[in-house]
Amino acid sequence: MYDAPPVPGVPYPGSLMVGQQFTEATLREKLASFGTRVELGGELVELAQDRDQVTASVRFDGQHQDVRARYLIGCDGGGSTVRKQVGIDFLGETWEQQRMLFGNLRVDGLDASVAHMWATGPGGGMLTLAPMPRSGTWFFTAPLPPDDGQGTSPVSVETFADIFSQRVGMSGVRFHDAVYLSVYQVNIRMVDRYRDGRVLLAGDAAHVHTPAGGQGMNTGVQDAYNLGWKLAHVLRGAPEPLLDTYEEERLPIAEHVLASTTARGRFWSSDDSARVSERIVGAFQGRDPFSDVSQLSITYRGSSLARDLDEAIGIRAGDRAPDAQPAPQVSEGRRGDVHTHRILPPGLPCSDSESALIDSAGEAHDLYGVDGDGLVLIRPDGYVALTGGSWDDQSVADYLERVTGDRAHRFERVAAAARSAW
Ligand SMILES: Cc1cc2nc3c(=O)[nH]c(=O)nc-3n(C[C@H](O)[C@H](O)[C@H](O)COP(=O)(O)OP(=O)(O)OC[C@H]3O[C@@H](n4cnc5c(N)ncnc54)[C@H](O)[C@@H]3O)c2cc1C
Repeated sequence: MYDAPPVPGVPYPGSLMVGQQFTEATLREKLASFGTRVELGGELVELAQDRDQVTASVRFDGQHQDVRARYLIGCDGGGSTVRKQVGIDFLGETWEQQRMLFGNLRVDGLDASVAHMWATGPGGGMLTLAPMPRSGTWFFTAPLPPDDGQGTSPVSVETFADIFSQRVGMSGVRFHDAVYLSVYQVNIRMVDRYRDGRVLLAGDAAHVHTPAGGQGMNTGVQDAYNLGWKLAHVLRGAPEPLLDTYEEERLPIAEHVLASTTARGRFWSSDDSARVSERIVGAFQGRDPFSDVSQLSITYRGSSLARDLDEAIGIRAGDRAPDAQPAPQVSEGRRGDVHTHRILPPGLPCSDSESALIDSAGEAHDLYGVDGDGLVLIRPDGYVALTGGSWDDQSVADYLERVTGDRAHRFERVAAAARSAW
């Protein structure tokens, strides 16, 4: 069991339910803004790799097409063809006796301003119905008894209505128009490596666990977020071992997520309904005793990419850079691979006010634990790369050279400007 550590600077104390269709639509819109389109209907059948590239054989409308690329990321879910093709094991267990009914459907006759939970007694477990914002639908969850003969066969709206009526027995509630309905079998599995040559895995392809606490998609998104900037740098010439830090940083997180969701899943399916409902309500209010469900307290301290020059400031390399006050636009001349910001307490004289950010409420200084001078280098994924008690050109340039392979001439230009105004 884990204590949920406080997440400094996180202004989101509770949870909001958002249907995955909205999250996916948001991601697709963002991709479209980069000129990239998600192509549906293709099926990866097999893949091969050599020293220079990966060849994926994809079936579109019965036609095979070879797609060649320098790297391939398998984000193809728990049954991942990519993972099987490269022979990476999916270690763990299937909880044969733990099956859940999940659905997203319309419900009449319930107050949609609150989520509803019914402790339905021994064997019945907790039945929940939570209204989903924007869609007018409800998220339905209920454990199924191990021996009811349903297997994972398709279920209908009537199945959900029957379970509700048997366990809750409330009249005037009507179920209809499902977005999806499913019987979910708990699998707790993960890979022991995230990479095979030019092939990497992300998301459910690398780890699956109980949905208790809603961690799966979040973990997958953070995999992609961790990998994205590293892959971009390697494609632009950074040393290849940068890609190995993906597994180094993300595999321990997957282990932690499996452990915390398993502990939470076992507790939530126990018969102590009073304690279970108290804990579930607590989790929605941002107090989950099993782990930080927001995943914002994740740290990569100790990673080979984390470097503390000294311990002069509070924040440590590997931590998530906390949100401080909103930054105004920096001037065009300071854009490049490295953006340099000088964050000053109010009232300090500053020769170059254009590039300085004034920490008027002292929020940034507090959150980063800086009292006096401090240096924080932040990675493209928003985690702290390097910390120190004072500006140190050489250490920053060395760090950037080691990680990106670039002596960072662009960095030196902006560093010189910052130094002169320090
Ligand atoms: C009932 C339930 C509730 C959940 N609730 C939450 C929650 O509240 N919060 C949360 O963060 N997570 C939640 N999860 C987990 C979340 O849904 C998954 O972790 C997430 O969808 C995984 O995303 P993914 O892209 O890695 O894999 P998937 O969503 O499985 O996507 C894989 C994609 O790859 C495609 N694919 C597979 N094989 C091939 C192939 N050979 N060729 C081409 N395409 C292929 C599939 O069609 C699919 O589109 C929940 C899961 C369940 C079952």
